[in-house]
Amino acid sequence: MKRIPELVMLDLDGTLYIGKQAIPGAIVCVQQLRKRGIQLRFLTNTTTKSHDELIAQLRVMGFTLEDEELISAPIAAKLELLSLQQKLRRPLRIWPVVADGIKQDFSEFFWDEQKPDYIILGDVGDAWDMTLVNRLFNAMHIGAELIALHKNHFWQTEDGLKADIGFFVAGLEYVCGKTARVMGKPNRAFFQRVLDSVGVDANNAIMVGDDLDSDVGGAQQMGIRACLVKTGKYRESYADHSPTKPAYIVPSVADLNLLWD
Ligand SMILES: [Mg+2]
Repeated sequence: MKRIPELVMLDLDGTLYIGKQAIPGAIVCVQQLRKRGIQLRFLTNTTTKSHDELIAQLRVMGFTLEDEELISAPIAAKLELLSLQQKLRRPLRIWPVVADGIKQDFSEFFWDEQKPDYIILGDVGDAWDMTLVNRLFNAMHIGAELIALHKNHFWQTEDGLKADIGFFVAGLEYVCGKTARVMGKPNRAFFQRVLDSVGVDANNAIMVGDDLDSDVGGAQQMGIRACLVKTGKYRESYADHSPTKPAYIVPSVADLNLLWD
């Protein structure tokens, strides 16, 4: 492939780093992409760290990026809430069920755990139990709508694969008979928001990630080419049996620039 994209969208976890370690070659890859004059956006469904914390973490690892180049699922949710609030012309009551670190991303809204208009669901780690599930169920039963920061199936940790919050999102949808608004990848609006922020058409962009469903599937439904990396949560058997076929597969993000050499 010789046609160099105008925009490369890079997934973070499993693609640029795992845990606190940058994937070997990832920092150089980002530098090379910039040298080619390609615009970059860093997209993440991570719901445990605020926008500022993520930026700081990437910089400590050695990546160079501007604040506006990182678009996280919580920031997408905040923008969605602001636009809903504008449409309804009244302050929204929200219940953010999210990690402490990202609560600040929702500080401008009115919080109400009893009768929220919207529940914002992210990763709360070991805080999940049946008491929380039933409180969420009851709030939804009397009218709350569910905004899921993402609906991922599973993720790669330093201790192996773990079930992700898609488990709870799907369960609440099922028992409440409601459909969540999903904010991060693979949501179409998320990718469109990113394209619009750069002013690039889908066919001039490429998405790079380790998640066949959220990264590759999400991008391809928007007409964005996708490149799967074989790091992070990539599993050969899962990719072989999936109907989603990426345009490109590379061993690691370190090999990405070879696509255009
Ligand atoms: Mg990933």
